[in-house]
Amino acid sequence: MVKFGLQFKATLENVTNVRPLGEDFRWFLKLKCGNCGEIPDKWQYVTLVESVPLKGGRGSASMVQKCKLCARENSIDILKETITSYNTPCVSLCISGMKAADNETFKTMVQFECRGMEPIDFQPQAGFAAEGAESGTQFPEVNLLEKDWTDYDEKVKESVGIYEVTSKFIKC
Ligand SMILES: [Zn+2]
Repeated sequence: MVKFGLQFKATLENVTNVRPLGEDFRWFLKLKCGNCGEIPDKWQYVTLVESVPLKGGRGSASMVQKCKLCARENSIDILKETITSYNTPCVSLCISGMKAADNETFKTMVQFECRGMEPIDFQPQAGFAAEGAESGTQFPEVNLLEKDWTDYDEKVKESVGIYEVTSKFIKC
């Protein structure tokens, strides 16, 4: 089994703690068969609420799938404990060492444990949450499909946003 990390990068404006919200968050992925190299055109998603048993009592995975080309059975599992938020620089928090600044740098947001397949692309959609960097205002419905998101923080009368969302995968 191989672990792949999804690295997330964005420019944050007045928000921090950008994260996937809830167990039903859908990670939309392009998955490549490690045996024959087939890459289905469609985006497929995995979520923490779905769990499929693996053959031979080897535990479970978020998704088990037979490759359409070579019929190899592949699986991918979300490693729940690796899910982390993406944070903005915040002087007080950085000094106290509570939160690292991730703004405009790649950070691994989640890891997937894969058997026979490999995630090669990620499409962020709805289901993210963020909060005001200084105000703490909650933004529970952040959609990153357009790679940019903007809103307005009433508490501090500031515009907030997440821009130029990009991602890549690394082997962990
Ligand atoms: Zn295949």
